Amino acid sequence: MPSRYQYVPLTYVPLAEGEIPVRILAISAHPDDVELLCAGTLAHYATQGAEVTVAVLTNGELGSRTLSRAETARVRQAEAERAARVLGANLLWLGQQDGFLFDNSETRLLVIDALRQAQPDVVFAHHPDDYHPDHRAAGQLTNAARLLSREPALETRYSPTRRVPALFFMDTFMTEGSARPDLWVDVTVTMPCKEAMLAEHISQNDARRARTGSDFLALMRTQASLRGGQVDVRYAEAFRVARTYPPTSITDLTPPDSNMTLPVRSVSSRA
Ligand SMILES: [Zn+2]
Repeated sequence: MPSRYQYVPLTYVPLAEGEIPVRILAISAHPDDVELLCAGTLAHYATQGAEVTVAVLTNGELGSRTLSRAETARVRQAEAERAARVLGANLLWLGQQDGFLFDNSETRLLVIDALRQAQPDVVFAHHPDDYHPDHRAAGQLTNAARLLSREPALETRYSPTRRVPALFFMDTFMTEGSARPDLWVDVTVTMPCKEAMLAEHISQNDARRARTGSDFLALMRTQASLRGGQVDVRYAEAFRVARTYPPTSITDLTPPDSNMTLPVRSVSSRA
């Protein structure tokens, strides 16, 4: 089904000749999590020439009360692919069972291989205190795989990662359960891209509208303006840094050898 959302694309600045693209990976439990929680930040990267990959761990097949699980999985994958195309991102569809994501050897190897395939400088993952069990498992898997993916003794389809990437935890759904963010990214200018991506999840928006009277776009705008209001901008996405070894710092959002800039607001930058 074609999107009903009218979107004016952002301006993409091409890389200079010989410039190596920064690589960004966002790992989520379900299709639409990334759109809700970090797509505005991903758009900042994409418009500056970064190679962005979105990995979705489960098929999201519990997302419908009318379709079969197999049919829902097909619909949700197609929607996630269209959303990734809005951003110009790669999509890794990892095919795990919705509602039953666990940190075990099979899923760890899967996430290790996703990291190896994407070779990211920066990773975004679910917050360890998230309300949803799949989100917590996805965050834990990513945190564990971040270290293990560089070990050559672990043989998988792809070559080991060249570095341990910086790890940032995304906000939680309507900020429940999360401690105070370490940083906010002003996503006011990339909000149209975030909205267009989320609008591609038509089945989810329609189901939520039928259930509650408003869709995920409305929910997302509420959260982005709540976070924006905390740092005096219109819309923001909030993140925490990973404190596990090697710890991530706020400045790791942009690799030092890149020309990237991100409109970051941190606790210390607040007046
Ligand atoms: Zn989710």
